[in-house]
Amino acid sequence: MTAPLIGVLALQGDVREHLAALAAAGARAVPVRRPEELAEVSGLVIPGGESTTISKLATAFGLLEPLRARVHGGMPAYGSCAGMIMLADKILDPRSGQETIGGIDMIVRRNAFGRQNESFEAEVEVAGVTGGPVPGVFIRAPWVESVGAAAEPLATYDGHPVAVRQGRLLATAFHPELTGDHRVHRLFTEMVLAVG
Ligand code: GLN
Repeated sequence: MTAPLIGVLALQGDVREHLAALAAAGARAVPVRRPEELAEVSGLVIPGGESTTISKLATAFGLLEPLRARVHGGMPAYGSCAGMIMLADKILDPRSGQETIGGIDMIVRRNAFGRQNESFEAEVEVAGVTGGPVPGVFIRAPWVESVGAAAEPLATYDGHPVAVRQGRLLATAFHPELTGDHRVHRLFTEMVLAVG
């Protein structure tokens, strides 16, 4: 089977780590900054970073509408942390003017687990990922306040969903790209391959 071409939205955030994790998971991974680059990929990762900055830059680079069109048109997408926020239909506490791509019927709360110095690592059991819990790195992470009927929580921490899937869309509040454990990226690569 040929390796699928998966983009990493490269406006801000931990792009390099996602490119490396995708390559380790068997994908061909490329950075995406322009609409023409977005048009080429079969799936897209939206990295961790700062969702307000990613939102602003996506608007400035003319990428927000193309991103919405592809994600709502059925392209598989995976967002970690800030990327999870970008895939949420609604943010509980957005900065003024903060836009999301949307697609997952959920409401997220930004910085829900506290400040930068309250970042932590925890073992997270993720439905659909075999071989034991994945190490979850939470850095000013959001949690999911509520999910709609179409969205399925895959993992919870402290009583809150921290991994969610809705069809071809996947989101985690934590950063598997920082751990050397590539199972979440493999799950996403398989989701992209399943679309064909
Ligand atoms: N708190 C950040 C935000 O609101 C997310 C942090 C992260 O991606 N590590 O976008």
